[in-house]
Amino acid sequence: MLRQLLILSIVPALASLIIWQDTYQLQRTRMVEDQLISRGIDDVATLAAMGKVPRHKFVPEDQRPYAYVDGALTIGEGQTISQPYIVAYMTQCLQLKKDSKVLEIGTGSGYQAAVLAEITDNVYSIEIVEKLGLQAREVLYGLGYTDINLKIGDGYNGWEEHAPFDAIIVTAGAEEIPKPLVEQLAVGGRMIIPVGPHRGTRQLIQIDKTPKKIKKKNLLAVRFVPLTRKQENK
Ligand code: SAH
Repeated sequence: MLRQLLILSIVPALASLIIWQDTYQLQRTRMVEDQLISRGIDDVATLAAMGKVPRHKFVPEDQRPYAYVDGALTIGEGQTISQPYIVAYMTQCLQLKKDSKVLEIGTGSGYQAAVLAEITDNVYSIEIVEKLGLQAREVLYGLGYTDINLKIGDGYNGWEEHAPFDAIIVTAGAEEIPKPLVEQLAVGGRMIIPVGPHRGTRQLIQIDKTPKKIKKKNLLAVRFVPLTRKQENK
């Protein structure tokens, strides 16, 4: 009798704990189905990564209830994480393999870097705003993404010591394609970058470096916070 009573009282408590813990997982699964698969994202590695990385851990506390909605989120310092669809779209475009070396410009919250790290072991990411870079490091390392190489600095110049990169993803809007990034792209490599006028709608551009030429392709119209420059680098 006592045992039955005990079970009767423990089971609902345990169930509510599990449900509470799983609500983010549930929201993530829905995000993958309703925002990604339904819009044509079909790369298995990208879908698995987006279904795994806890996006809510990368946003300020007051943004957590909205972490899995179909839109961008503010992360402080006037910056944003892109809508899940754009993160997935850009990731899928990179066609990463397990051993690809990828450079991200604009670490921001660290979310995109974590998505990349689920797919490849060689992730490099640069953030120009020190406070964001340090915050991202804390979150990423706290979640166990300790192999990601992070740097605070102006990503316009890339990361020469580790070049060439098989893939480069720029997550801030540039007014023109930074030359050092094209130079640091491996032959056979691909870069995805939003390009266009300051404050306007930009074009997401795919750049493929072949042995003979640089091929550019417009993908879609996007809005991104601007790629800024350190005064001394201008
Ligand atoms: N990928 C991020 C979101 C990027 S928001 C995420 O997943 O959260 C764009 C980021 O680019 C901002 O954090 C901004 O500070 C950074 N940024 C802007 N110009 C930069 C530059 N020249 N070099 C490196 N980072 C830059």
